[in-house]
Amino acid sequence: MQITKATYLISSPSVDKCPKPDRPEYAFIGRSNVGKSSLINMLCNNSKLAKISVTPGKTQLINHYTIESTTAKSNKKTSWFLVDLPGYGYAKRSQQQRKQWSKMIEDYLRKRKNLLNIFVLIDVRHEPQKIDLEFVDDLGEWQLPFAIVFTKADKEKPGAVERNVKSFFEKMREKWQFLPRYFITSIITKQGKEEILDFIDDCNKAFSNS
Ligand code: GDP
Repeated sequence: MQITKATYLISSPSVDKCPKPDRPEYAFIGRSNVGKSSLINMLCNNSKLAKISVTPGKTQLINHYTIESTTAKSNKKTSWFLVDLPGYGYAKRSQQQRKQWSKMIEDYLRKRKNLLNIFVLIDVRHEPQKIDLEFVDDLGEWQLPFAIVFTKADKEKPGAVERNVKSFFEKMREKWQFLPRYFITSIITKQGKEEILDFIDDCNKAFSNS
């Protein structure tokens, strides 16, 4: 699948203000500085679409982008929403802002009817972090579909990437019976780009056939 057009649509303070849920939707979330804007820009072939590292933690809004894509085989155009969610782990957020964030995110994730998958981004350079594991546990408790995207793979040796991925899943296995789908990515080598787009394409097809 190729993205042929990606345009910013709207930023919403709550799920009820989000655009009409009339097409498939995919959300991207992770802790600050994980590489979320970079990944979105890589997927969309647009270096300026999502703003890279602007005032971390300041914007607590649900950001919708309208995407048009085509598949190599059919050339058929599909339209879907990509959502850039404000992440967790911003040191500068006040207690009040954290509460607001939690409520907005939980409401959005649990109520958004067209949300087909949540991509949880994790920096592959780190050992498993409590904050990421807790977020993933919440998604499990809420029974929401998600995949893990390990970012910045080019910054580590392949052995270290493998080790950190493995130890993340070992931690998850303490509580989880099934492990999620995962992708290893880099904006430098473009690793993982095709796989994520193909996965979205498959979900889009399942949505249009349902
Ligand atoms: P965000 O806060 O999650 O949106 O993170 P950004 O997309 O702003 O990325 C944070 C920093 O990590 C920036 O300096 C990016 O250039 C860098 N970065 C993001 N992804 C990658 C990657 O795959 N490889 C490398 N080498 N740097 C990356």
